[in-house]
Amino acid sequence: MEFITPNCPECGSKAIGTAEKVVALFEEGDDISVEEFEYRGDTDMDCQTTITNAIGESLLVCDCGNEWFSAEVSDGQPEPVKTTIEFAPDLFLSVTACHDGGGGVSSNLHDESDEWAGDEDEERSHYEFEGAVDMLESLVLAHALAGVDVSSPAYVDGLKTAYESACNNL
Ligand SMILES: [Zn+2]
Repeated sequence: MEFITPNCPECGSKAIGTAEKVVALFEEGDDISVEEFEYRGDTDMDCQTTITNAIGESLLVCDCGNEWFSAEVSDGQPEPVKTTIEFAPDLFLSVTACHDGGGGVSSNLHDESDEWAGDEDEERSHYEFEGAVDMLESLVLAHALAGVDVSSPAYVDGLKTAYESACNNL
């Protein structure tokens, strides 16, 4: 494997390897209901995968104890990672994170109506809402680029709550 950042950002040495996650099943033998079972069963290695962040970069390890994420070199440029978050049926936000630190975000969360036209209060409220949606989009993009898993259920729940609050209050 070849990595874009093969050297440790702390000490400059080459990585000694990737951090791996192993799922293993320990079979305890005949009777696991006894109070003090002995560790004499078999451990079945199920699968081993490299630990990665939300944009698919691998966790590299250095002799000095430092760990950092790096994308693999794959025919020049690694693929951008696109995540689509569904707020409700037909309401979505898509964020694309590239490994060079660039990215983009798009959504249909904005208020496309012009019902506010002609009413000063409604107009102010419309632009405040648009500002809140812009902010939400920027935040998700910044988090995705920082390696946060923006598709995790807890993160998506938080986003939905923030969006609902903008809908209700602005
Ligand atoms: Zn190091």
